[in-house]
Amino acid sequence: MTDSTHYEPKRSAELFEEAQRYIPGGVNSPVRAFRGVGGTPLFFSGGQGAYLLDEDSNRYVDYVGAWGPLILGHCHPAVISALQTQLSKGLGYGASTAAEVEIAKTICKLVPSIEKVRLVTSGTEATMSAIRLARGFTRRDKVVKFEGCYHGHVDGLLVKAGSGALTLGEPDSLGVPRSYTDQTFVLPYNDIDAMKQLFADHGGEIACIIVEPVAGNMNLVPPVPGFLETMRELCTQYESVLIFDEVMTGFRTALGGAQSVYGVTPDLTTLGKVIGGGLPVGAFGGRADIMNCIAPLGPVYQAGTLAGSPLAVAAGQAMLNEIQKPGFYEGLTQRTSQMLEGLQQRADAAGIAFTTNQVGGMFGCFFTEEKAVTRFEQVMACNVERFKRYFHLMLDNNVYLAPSAFEAGFVSAAHGDDEIRLTLDAAEKAFAAL
Ligand code: PMP
Repeated sequence: MTDSTHYEPKRSAELFEEAQRYIPGGVNSPVRAFRGVGGTPLFFSGGQGAYLLDEDSNRYVDYVGAWGPLILGHCHPAVISALQTQLSKGLGYGASTAAEVEIAKTICKLVPSIEKVRLVTSGTEATMSAIRLARGFTRRDKVVKFEGCYHGHVDGLLVKAGSGALTLGEPDSLGVPRSYTDQTFVLPYNDIDAMKQLFADHGGEIACIIVEPVAGNMNLVPPVPGFLETMRELCTQYESVLIFDEVMTGFRTALGGAQSVYGVTPDLTTLGKVIGGGLPVGAFGGRADIMNCIAPLGPVYQAGTLAGSPLAVAAGQAMLNEIQKPGFYEGLTQRTSQMLEGLQQRADAAGIAFTTNQVGGMFGCFFTEEKAVTRFEQVMACNVERFKRYFHLMLDNNVYLAPSAFEAGFVSAAHGDDEIRLTLDAAEKAFAAL
């Protein structure tokens, strides 16, 4: 199939048509609409291991993994069995369970900067609550974020946000009062001097810095040496709270998250995705003296009817048990490297300007002449048109990538030699057609 004949799965097209009558844009989250790549958004009917099945019974090697949570692949037996056990005992009680204590203990053990943790139901809620807590704790209002980082659709953080906001070309959202975003300073990612200057000018007003320690919402951009270290020093010096948003990187880049990879300790961490095993969950946690400011102990209010859902906790705990097995991250990282090296070789052989970034089981691919991508401007300057064609060529060859040039990719433990071979064969054809 040539790149001019986009693959058009019939049943997905029918469903998308119908969906648009009842759901705004036909989707419940914008990037799913394929606006970033064009063509018909796929509707999926199932997943097994490293594979997704669409409504037209096409099978794809999946590099989205539900946007990160499915680090074990789809339908891992341990996760499914934990869910079945919980299902037979009830869906939720609106009260505390032993399983919540167990998962909190596990999170605190695996991420030592987290002394206390609270569960919520999404990543957005986690970052929103962490920021409220940082403001309450410091009695300051200003928040620092970085260009291209996405922290969920929190009002004050929808400024130069990454992910879907970038894909749609609408970095700011209507409906967010100016007075909210006026409280947010936005800095260039990986720019150490800009951060020092901002603190020199406004340090005493800054409640917190929130950062993706590895930026996964402008494709994948790791921190340059000194970037995270400097923000740690500045936050300590100016008594601001350092929040690592590890919703994506937590248990993805390494068992202890990006903070363990780079050896920088935040005051608060937000988590999501992997800790829910694929069910809706988020968490925020960190220093006990800060966390103790939350209701019912302290004056910062935060709550959730479905928070700590027994199903989400059961799935999350099962997943956390699996990823602690010896060699898990070594295997995941090695397979991801193997796949990326194969892609690079094939792009080079086809004369396609291409480079990749990787941290653990997360990766980014860039159509660019640059040898290293570390800045937002470099990400934005990549050849998006070429990515769109590549995306569809890969889809035609049964590989499902994130439908946007600005999203990170995810490898799971279910991706073995066969899946990598299939991916590299597809890429070879795609690069040749480009
Ligand atoms: N923070 C980061 C780093 C994210 O990547 C995301 C979502 N991809 C969020 C927060 C928001 O999470 P959710 O979509 O669960 O609200």
